[in-house]
Amino acid sequence: MLRISQVFGPTVQGEGSAAGRHCLFVRTFDCNQECSWCDTAYTWAVTEEKAAKTRSGHRYERDDPAYGLKQMKPDEVLDRLQALWDVETRPTIIVVSGGEPMMQQRELVPLLERLRGLGNEVHIETAGTIAPIAEFDACVTQYNVSPKLANSGNRLSKRYKPTVLAALQATGKAWFKFVVTADYESDLAEVDRIVAEVPLTPWRVMVMPEGSDGRTNITTAQKMVDTALQRGYGLSFRTHVFLWNNDPDR
Ligand code: SF4
Repeated sequence: MLRISQVFGPTVQGEGSAAGRHCLFVRTFDCNQECSWCDTAYTWAVTEEKAAKTRSGHRYERDDPAYGLKQMKPDEVLDRLQALWDVETRPTIIVVSGGEPMMQQRELVPLLERLRGLGNEVHIETAGTIAPIAEFDACVTQYNVSPKLANSGNRLSKRYKPTVLAALQATGKAWFKFVVTADYESDLAEVDRIVAEVPLTPWRVMVMPEGSDGRTNITTAQKMVDTALQRGYGLSFRTHVFLWNNDPDR
C-alpha cells in the first residue's frame, strides 16, 4: 500500500529546472525532515511534537479527507491520475513529491513502472537523505533534490547526507535546489560548502527564495541573484506562488 496525501493536476511544475512544464502531482504522506517553513506540513505535522517544529505551530489532522493520509494501491493512484488526465494516451510528467517520497521507494516501483511504460516522465522530489535503490532509479526520469540548509531548523546529521547527494548526482538525472532565505549571504555560504564537499556540479545547482507569497520571493531573489550567478548557480522562482498564491491543490 502507498501512503498518499494528494493526487492533483493538471498543473505546472512550480520549481526547479522543469518549472513551467505540464504535469500531474502525486504527493506522498510523511517526511523524515521537519522544516520550519515547510509549505506541505499537512503531510507530516500531525502530532503536537511535530507541529511545534513548524513556524505556525499548527497540528494537522492525519485523517483529513483532503490532505491527510490515504492508503492506496498503485492501481488506485493510477486510476486517480487517469481521471485527471489521460496518462495512457497523452503522456505527461508525473511529479512524485511529498513529504519525502523516497521513504516509500520500494512500494512506489510498480506504479512508476506503469507510468514510464505508458511514456510518462517521472520526476522525484526529495530532500536527498535516502539513496535510490536500482529498481526505483530505473523508473526515474529526473530527480529534483532539495537538500536542507540550517535555515530549515533540522539538525545537520539529519538533513545533510553527502554520500546520498553524491549517489543521486552519479545517476546523471539530478538537479539540486537550495531554499535561500532573506539572510542570503550565510545561506549561500552554506550552499558553497556543500557544493565543494560533495562535490556537486555548479550548473546543476539552483537557488530558490523561501516564501509563500510572491513579493517575498521577488525581494529575496533580487537581493541574491547576482551573487548566485557569480558562483555558477541558477535561480528558481516558485511559479505556483505567483499564479495561485500557494494553493495546495494547484
Ligand atoms: S523536506 Fe520538504 S516536505 Fe519535508 S519538511 Fe522539509 S519542506 Fe516539508
